[in-house]
Amino acid sequence: MPAKVIVEKCNGCGECIEQCPEESIKLVDELAVIDAETCTDCGICVDACAEEAIEME
Ligand code: SF4
Ligand code: SF4
Repeated sequence: MPAKVIVEKCNGCGECIEQCPEESIKLVDELAVIDAETCTDCGICVDACAEEAIEME
C-alpha cells in the first residue's frame, strides 16, 4: 500500500514534499496528496511529517 495522508492532521507545511525521493507528493488546496502510481512505499514521508499525518498500512 502506498503512503496515505490523514487530511485532518495535515497542515500543508510541505516537509514531506521536500523529502520524498520520488517527487510523489504535491500540495493541493494546502493538503499533501500522494501519487500512488509513483510512490515506492519507502516510508520517508511518514518519518518526515511532524504532525503524524502520513501513515502506511
Ligand atoms: S509533512 Fe505532514 S503536515 Fe506537512 S504537508 Fe506533509 S503530510 Fe502535511
Ligand atoms: S512513501 Fe516514499 S515514495 Fe511514497 S510518498 Fe512517501 S516519501 Fe514518497
